[in-house]
Amino acid sequence: MERVKDTSGLNDSPGKHRLVILGAGESGIGAGLLGKQKGYEVFVSDGGPIKEKYKQELIDNGIDFEEGRHTAEKILSADEIVKSPGIPERNEMMQQVRAKGIEVISEIELAYRFKGDSRIIAITGSNGKSTTTALIYHICETAGLDCALVGNIGYSFAKQVAEKPAAWYVAEISSFQLDDIKTFRAEVSVLLNITEDHLDRYDHSFEKYTNSKFKIIQNQLPGDSFIYCDDDDVITKKLALLTTHTNPLPFSMKHEVKKGGYIKGDQMMLRIQEERVSMSIYDFALKGKHNNYNTMAACIAAATIGIRKEKIREAVKDFQSLEHRMEFVATVRGVEFINDSKATNVNSTWFALESMQKPTVLILGGTDKGNDYSLIADLVKEKVKAIICMGVDNKKLLAFFKDIVPVIVETKTARDAVHECFRLSAKGDVVLLSPACASFDLFKNYEDRGKQFKEAVKEL
Ligand code: ADP
Repeated sequence: MERVKDTSGLNDSPGKHRLVILGAGESGIGAGLLGKQKGYEVFVSDGGPIKEKYKQELIDNGIDFEEGRHTAEKILSADEIVKSPGIPERNEMMQQVRAKGIEVISEIELAYRFKGDSRIIAITGSNGKSTTTALIYHICETAGLDCALVGNIGYSFAKQVAEKPAAWYVAEISSFQLDDIKTFRAEVSVLLNITEDHLDRYDHSFEKYTNSKFKIIQNQLPGDSFIYCDDDDVITKKLALLTTHTNPLPFSMKHEVKKGGYIKGDQMMLRIQEERVSMSIYDFALKGKHNNYNTMAACIAAATIGIRKEKIREAVKDFQSLEHRMEFVATVRGVEFINDSKATNVNSTWFALESMQKPTVLILGGTDKGNDYSLIADLVKEKVKAIICMGVDNKKLLAFFKDIVPVIVETKTARDAVHECFRLSAKGDVVLLSPACASFDLFKNYEDRGKQFKEAVKEL
């Protein structure tokens, strides 16, 4: 790699590649550790406070950092910047970085640079990434592959490469991570779906967001595989406009495919090269229509890399679903409570509601990312008897749903929300936390929201 000479006077080791990392979360810290290990001069800068455990890792590894500010001269002296996924382009420091023309990469690009001969299965999409990534990893592990789970659930990709490299990386990749890739290439890429999300980060342009997701195939080669949902119009329309070099493997629940996978009746059929796999969807550990898609995508990925069908079947049957995703919490006096706190956009709430078979009391709300609630209006009319808003600002929800549901109330804590739900529900009902919004107005993150919800249910 080219090493640019430092002239800022800030560089304590002249000649060393100065890598500045913006953002000190899981991915920023991972990038810092990997950069340091590979001999870069690393500086980490976070505009807010850095978590204690991360600060300790920086200190233990002798990595220079700052928190609560971005010092221009320390950042603009970089040869290369790693931008954490949480940092938007409109961030003032990012604008200065762009104006100066400094090379910007994402953490997965840095990790890719040092991954050696290892191979990557990369999963992206608006919804279902974590679930599908975890399932693919579980299948790989069941088959005895030397593999690591990286991205949102496990370590960041960079940290894994630095500390515990593996032959296969099963990587959950967000659109923000894809925005600043250059050479990152996955041997197998999976695109689950594209629905409106995070548009605030893409100048409110759905097209820009779509393009960002499609970067997952940008560097793929002819021998690589691209697994995608053939029932998703956004994906198929975009794909028709592109020249791709990879082996396309569509999956569908609406029609048969010659290559890839489909579900017909209650049978999933896979057609991968010469391999034919069939399996009853009733044997899938993950339930619900959205999970049938996720499971099918995972099975195709596994079959593509040559995992035997017996192992795939075994793993798909005994997979344990993840916390905060349609997680059963408890039944209290005949009322069932489900924690789907990870539903941070309208589409995931749509799938949650679609799978409801009992009258539902729904908790919605939080930080609205430009949601279009008309997408769930019909399902709400059909299945929801009351909405409990749980957010700092519930105006939009109240205005939209007041004529759609018989009862709508406002709350500001998980405990109040759970109490209201319990008051409004009867034996045989379901209380569903599937908020369609981010959690940052009232909670640290969606995990915190889900945990507080579960605690409140257990106190009932
Ligand atoms: P991600 O990592 O993409 O956010 P998760 O697997 O954590 O996805 O699931 C997030 C939410 O989306 C959950 O509420 C889940 O019920 C819902 N969901 C999961 N898979 C899908 C899918 N294929 N389509 C739509 N919604 C989904």
